[in-house]
Amino acid sequence: MTQKIAVYPGSFDPVHFGHMDIAQRAAKIFDQLIVAVYENPKKPLCFSAAERVAMLETALADLKNVTVRAYTGLTVNLARSVGAQVLVRGLRVISDFEMEYQMALTNQQLWAEVDTICLMTRYEYAFLSASLLKEVFMAGGDISQMVPPVVQEMLLRKREQRRAAGGGEIPKLSL
Ligand code: ADP
Repeated sequence: MTQKIAVYPGSFDPVHFGHMDIAQRAAKIFDQLIVAVYENPKKPLCFSAAERVAMLETALADLKNVTVRAYTGLTVNLARSVGAQVLVRGLRVISDFEMEYQMALTNQQLWAEVDTICLMTRYEYAFLSASLLKEVFMAGGDISQMVPPVVQEMLLRKREQRRAAGGGEIPKLSL
């Protein structure tokens, strides 16, 4: 029987409980799940691709049918190369939908065989985003309900590195 393989792409800068919940649920649906980290997304990044992969590997270590890798280029090309015909994405508030819809249809234009499956977030993660948690962290807030310990440690280390290098803080947005 052929294996059902799915790719869950994202920036994961850094991974948080909302991402982990989607990965856990997708790992129950598919035989293999590949969490794919965009090396160079359009948004400004806090962590390198290697750091984002390492945090995901630790956070998802219990899921035996999940692997993590970085990639560049089109997500459909990665999916094709690993034998996956399904892309998994998470949906939070309704405003996510428009972007996910555009991306799903564009990916379908690029490769007619690919389908996108969106899993609805859990209630408690509906307003959790990587940018918001970085902002809470920089403002001194408690992020233990948002990220696993490995991410808290990496954020602390990143802040120390930036301070030691005389660089700015991780950018704040609005809190
Ligand atoms: P993007 O891929 O757009 O750069 P992220 O890396 O933050 O964004 O997210 C990767 C995927 O995880 C996207 O499908 C996004 O909608 C989803 N996601 C992000 N935060 C959550 C959350 N709190 N609950 C469920 N899904 C989420």
